[in-house]
Amino acid sequence: MPTISGRVHRIVRGQGAYVFDDEGRRLLDVPAGLWFANVGHGRAEIAEAVGRQLRELATYPVFGRFCTPPAEELADRLAALVPMAGAKVFFTSGGSESVETAIKLVRRHWQARGQTERQAVITREGGYHGLHGFGTSLVGVPEFRAGYGELLPGRITVPMMDLAALERAILAHGSGRVAAFLCEAVIAGGAGVVPPAEGYLTGAQELCRKHGIVFILDEVVTGFGRAGSMFAADRYGLRPDLMLLAKGLTSGYLPLGAVVAAGPVAETFWNPGTPHVFEHGLTYSGHAAACAAAMANLDILEREDLVTRVRAGESRLLAGLLPLSAHPEIAEVRGGTGFLAAVACHELEVAAQVADAMVAEGMLIRVTGGNALQVSPPFVIEDADLDRIPAAISAALGRVA
Ligand code: PLP
Repeated sequence: MPTISGRVHRIVRGQGAYVFDDEGRRLLDVPAGLWFANVGHGRAEIAEAVGRQLRELATYPVFGRFCTPPAEELADRLAALVPMAGAKVFFTSGGSESVETAIKLVRRHWQARGQTERQAVITREGGYHGLHGFGTSLVGVPEFRAGYGELLPGRITVPMMDLAALERAILAHGSGRVAAFLCEAVIAGGAGVVPPAEGYLTGAQELCRKHGIVFILDEVVTGFGRAGSMFAADRYGLRPDLMLLAKGLTSGYLPLGAVVAAGPVAETFWNPGTPHVFEHGLTYSGHAAACAAAMANLDILEREDLVTRVRAGESRLLAGLLPLSAHPEIAEVRGGTGFLAAVACHELEVAAQVADAMVAEGMLIRVTGGNALQVSPPFVIEDADLDRIPAAISAALGRVA
């Protein structure tokens, strides 16, 4: 399992915003793993909740005639938390499964409604939606798609922030043949943290409504506080038809994801008396122990008011990083939306070397979006540690550039 430079870094323990490697180093977890360790590592409370659930019942399927209390309670809690009226929750085991499930759900919705021509899905250049079948086809990073052939016929990719181009694509394909538009609020891993242009997301949502297209918001990274509000949809005033969740749902303590549906799609399948059934279910959808982890994780998020903490810290994080843009090896600093920032280098090689050199500065960082250093710390990071990140990147740059 090679890293970018071919060196394996074994992480053996975590506590708060820190992880420890097998050589005993204590390292600040600057990317929060893969954007997931939101409430921090080593939370005994979550481990205990999972242990209690495992001793009671590991899990049981939550489709057909079966359900479990943790899955039911978590579904109710999520439905009340999202800014979507009458929300229904379908559990998965992670972000990529949420993407697959959402595309199937949308396709099935249009078939059930007799609009069988509506099959195409529009996504954005630089977007990332996991790497299962549909996700691989829909990803806006050509290298991730290459070599698999056409996995989802009717895939359409549009520029990142261009509403006119989005409408042109809809009209060129025929609005009656487009099933859904799928986007992230803040593009995370694909293009290396790109916050939305002013008005883009509400404009895209309006275009979807105008043309009768299902609006799917991928909040796998942004969900549960990372964008400085419980959901990015709250911050940007969005009311998606489908919302995709994973990572921050459990802060990574166990794998779990969800598709939250509202509006017409929910009505197709969940209205009382509907003849339509979404014939889809995964053995571990809504795994009971994972749902217990999610409940304990949400308890911590709320009790410690961590979303407010992220919103309050976002400008401090960006202000600290911005001076790095004066360095000749740095192309750009992006961020300002919660604990989501990136320091883009001109060259991947430099980014990879800086990431390696950061270990000597007592920090772990990863390269994302081609050539950017991912700065997305756990929400529990101390201010003093937040302030140390830019200096550490600068020192690492000094070692390699
Ligand atoms: N969607 C987005 C926006 C992501 O960033 C990711 C993963 O990073 C996924 C979907 C896929 O999630 P997973 O890796 O849990 O399958």
